[in-house]
Amino acid sequence: MASDNDPGGAGTSERAAVDAPAAASRSLSADEGIARLAELIADAEHLVVFTGAGISTESGIPDFRSPGGIWNRYKPIDYQTFMSSEEGKREYWRRGRNTYAVIREARPNPAHLALAELERLGKLDLLITQNIDGLHTATGSSPERTVELHGTAHRVFCMNCGATMTRDEISARLDAGEAIPACRVCGGTLRAATVAFGEPLPREPWQRAATAAAGSDLFLIIGSSLVVNPAAQLPRIAANAGAYIVILNQTPTPLDDLAQLLLRGSAGAVMARVMSEVRRRL
Ligand SMILES: [Zn+2]
Repeated sequence: MASDNDPGGAGTSERAAVDAPAAASRSLSADEGIARLAELIADAEHLVVFTGAGISTESGIPDFRSPGGIWNRYKPIDYQTFMSSEEGKREYWRRGRNTYAVIREARPNPAHLALAELERLGKLDLLITQNIDGLHTATGSSPERTVELHGTAHRVFCMNCGATMTRDEISARLDAGEAIPACRVCGGTLRAATVAFGEPLPREPWQRAATAAAGSDLFLIIGSSLVVNPAAQLPRIAANAGAYIVILNQTPTPLDDLAQLLLRGSAGAVMARVMSEVRRRL
């Protein structure tokens, strides 16, 4: 297990400017790293991309796991608390209102655009995301080739009758003063279509993700610190199946040793440059 202060690590490398990926590993310069990723994408037959919170920070959504971040105030209620009390439900919707206000204002950035373009170019088997912000499908990635492992903040459903509604509709009811909105069909308990803390991932999306990872020849991770299980197991599944692993992230991850190519930097800036290389190569 890597530690934050690993004395054996390559701690002498120069720190990169935010928008210039460092020569993070494998002795490539930043430019060479970008060219290499473009080459890998152009040559890949089964590209699978896995995205996390880091791809959406440039879109205005802070990573709630970063310490001291605003998400400490917006931290979601865990599943047990939500289910076990009225107070838990009240707090769930109160915090959810804050969170959704941030998500609703977010706009896709060049990294989201790049992944939608890769799908249009026929270069993408599957896009797997840990994010609930809906920015991938808002950018044009199709629901058929996008797996939202943790669900979406844009939909609400009734736990009793299964009726679904938009989050905007529920937002309006919260704004109008409802503290715990109930299903208008059956009076049942409503909740967002997201996976709560302490709740297992739904089986079907996970199976799709794991199957695609196992069938990939290039597995590209963008903006995930790879610490949330079981999602963080996907790169191992891909690596075990022989896929080439690329990690693009601002900071080191526990799975960096698994990657043949590491890129450090802003997801949007790096992927914009990667895409202009990819277009030249296709
Ligand atoms: Zn209902």
